[in-house]
Amino acid sequence: MIEKNSLQAPSGEPDRTRSDAAPGKAALAWTHTARFLTTASQLRELPPTELPEIAFVGRSNAGKSTAINVLAQQKRLAFASKTPGRTQHINLFELGPKDAPDALFADLPGYGYAAVARGAKLRWQQVMADYLEQRRSLSGVVLMIDSRLGATDLDRQLLGFIAPRVGTGTVRLLVLLTKADKLNRSESQAALAAMQTLLGEFATEQADVGVALFSALKRSGVEDAALVLHGWAHRPLG
Ligand code: GDP
Repeated sequence: MIEKNSLQAPSGEPDRTRSDAAPGKAALAWTHTARFLTTASQLRELPPTELPEIAFVGRSNAGKSTAINVLAQQKRLAFASKTPGRTQHINLFELGPKDAPDALFADLPGYGYAAVARGAKLRWQQVMADYLEQRRSLSGVVLMIDSRLGATDLDRQLLGFIAPRVGTGTVRLLVLLTKADKLNRSESQAALAAMQTLLGEFATEQADVGVALFSALKRSGVEDAALVLHGWAHRPLG
């Protein structure tokens, strides 16, 4: 499990005991309930909600769609965001019982795609900044970063957008270092250490920040990520 403020991640396979297997399974059963709700190209088009909302963000090609799909155990759930014309949209998914949804996932546009024109990039920046700074129901952000590349300028810019709310503890942050199957053990440890150093800048008494290695391919880190998100949605901000 990823501890609050610890900036720690499980090294290798978590040492699961019988007693902590059940919460992981329950958390995964919960993420598997994700279903498409709606799509919007601007903040004001998103439905207001009282449900806690967890946003997934990352550079394009970071593995965001694959991560959402593996969490949701659905092959194509997040690929709607890759449909031409939809790449700049925010897609909302609903979770929990159908008659009593208890959280939303928001899949935000991937950024940093080289072929995107300057105008579209600026528009992206505005949509992301508006959403991350103003969306009232936002309670957590999952930032996907390719473990081989580490944080880019745009990732740092995004962290800047959310820093004020993370600092006050009103928005939690989990960084998933994706495609971890491509790294060997020492490279994994180096990637984790570099991210922990960067995230150290956000450390405040209230901040709830975590980082973990993640591989959709090997399914490592998936259950731990589900546990964190389930905790965010079901434990009020303290
Ligand atoms: P997105 O643009 O952030 O949504 O990225 P995608 O989910 O489309 O993934 C980008 C590329 O990375 C695709 O070719 C995926 O197959 C690959 N990929 C995603 N997750 C993993 C992973 O865990 N391991 C490996 N080796 N490749 C991955």
